[in-house]
Amino acid sequence: MIKKLPVCLFAFIMVFGIGLNAALKDLIILHTNDVHGHIIGDDKRGSMGMAKISYYAKSLKAEGYSVLMLNAGDAVTGTPISEYTEGVAVYDIMSKVGYDVGTLGNHEFDKGWEHINTYLSAAKFPIVCANAYSPEDSLLADSKYIIKKINGLKVCIVGLVTADVPTLVMREKNEGIEVRDEVKTLKALIPKLRKKCDIMLLLTHTGHDEDITIADKVKGVDLVVGGHSHTDLDKPVTSKNGTRIVQAHEFTKALGEIDLTYDTQKRKITRFKWKKLRGSDIDGTDKEIEKAISLWKRKLPSEMYSVIGHVPREYNRAEFKRIVENFLAEANDADFGYMNKGGVRDKLYYPDIQERDVWIAMPFDNLVSVVSIKGKNIGGVLKTELQERGVNLNDEKTYTVATNTFVSENPGPEIGEPVEKVEVSSQNIRQFVIDSIRANPEVAL
Ligand SMILES: [Zn+2]
Repeated sequence: MIKKLPVCLFAFIMVFGIGLNAALKDLIILHTNDVHGHIIGDDKRGSMGMAKISYYAKSLKAEGYSVLMLNAGDAVTGTPISEYTEGVAVYDIMSKVGYDVGTLGNHEFDKGWEHINTYLSAAKFPIVCANAYSPEDSLLADSKYIIKKINGLKVCIVGLVTADVPTLVMREKNEGIEVRDEVKTLKALIPKLRKKCDIMLLLTHTGHDEDITIADKVKGVDLVVGGHSHTDLDKPVTSKNGTRIVQAHEFTKALGEIDLTYDTQKRKITRFKWKKLRGSDIDGTDKEIEKAISLWKRKLPSEMYSVIGHVPREYNRAEFKRIVENFLAEANDADFGYMNKGGVRDKLYYPDIQERDVWIAMPFDNLVSVVSIKGKNIGGVLKTELQERGVNLNDEKTYTVATNTFVSENPGPEIGEPVEKVEVSSQNIRQFVIDSIRANPEVAL
C-alpha cells in the first residue's frame, strides 16, 4: 500500500525542497454507488460490506493519505436491514465509516419524497443533489453542491439524480416532485462554481451512458463519480472534454479508488489513476463497524436467516421471475402471472433459499393485484414474453393477470392498456412469495 516515489523525483524533491511539494497535491477518492443496503458482507453475492470498506479507508488515512469518500446514490432499498430500519441503519453505518458526501438515487424516493428527510438526518455527512425538488419547490437534499477543503485543495462536489425519477418510483408517494434536466441544471451552475474550486467533481446517479453524454455537453468538469446503471467498469472512461468518468458496480461488490495529483501551479490534474477493489483485495475488517452493524442486525427477526426452501440448481433472475409468476398465477387462479423485471432483482442461489434471499431479490413493498384485460389490449413486456412462449391470444377474450401494484398502477409498458378491472389485495408481494416457498419448499421451474 505504501507508494514509493521514483528515485529521480525523490532526488528532485530533496534538492528543490518544499517548492515542488507545495505545488503538487495528492488526493485519494474512494467511491461506492448503488450500495442498496448491502452494509453486511455477503460472500454468496460477493458483497464486501462496510466493515471492509472502512478498514481500507482507515488504513489509507493512517498512512497519511488525504482521502475523500463518496457514494453516488441508491444507498438504500435491497436488504432486510435497510427495510427494517427504513434506511436509517445504512446511513448510520456509512456515517461511522467516514463517508464525506453522498447524493440521492432514485431509490431514495421509494418510501416517498418526504422520507428523504429521514436519510438526511441519519447521514452525518452532506447529501448533495442539484436537480430534485419537492412539490413545494424546495431542494430535496442538504444542498446542490459542497466545496470540500482537503490537503490544501478545494474540491467542488455537485450532486445529480436522473431526471427519470418520476417514472421510476411509486407515483402516489411522489406526486408533484420535480427532477430537472441534468445538463440544463449543470450549465446554470458550473461556470460560476468552477472559479471557486480546484477540482470539479460530479457525483451522479444518472447511469454510465448518461454520464458520458453529460460530460460531453458540459464544460469545466474534471471527474464524474457515477451510479444508477450498476456498471462494473474495468477502466475509467474519458469524455470528449477530457472528463474522467468512473463507477463501481453495485451492492459493495466493488470499491472504486481514484488516486490523483493536482498541480496547483498548472491548475490541473497531472496524474490520474483508477482502480476497483474487490472484497478479496482487502485483508481486514473494521471491528468497530462490525459491532455497530451487529447492533442494527438485532432489529431483524431471527427467521430472516432461516432456510425456507431449496432449489435443484441455481436459477437466474429471469428464471426466478418466472417462478414468482407461476406462484402468482396459481394462487390467484389467473390466466397469467406477471412480474416486472425490476421487481425481481437477484437470482436464486443453489441449494438453500433463506428468507433474506427473497427480501434481497424483492425489496419493494408492493401488493399483489389482479388485472382483467382484453386479449387485444395485452401489450408491453407481457405480450413479447407470451409470444416467445408461443401463447396465442384471443382478441376478444378477457384475461386475468396476477401481478403487483407497481405494474397495475402503470400497466402500459408492462402488460398493456387499457385494462378493464384492477383488484388490489392486502398481500405484500414479497411476503406472498415467502409464504408460497414455505408452503412448497422444493422450488423448481
Ligand atoms: Zn441502483
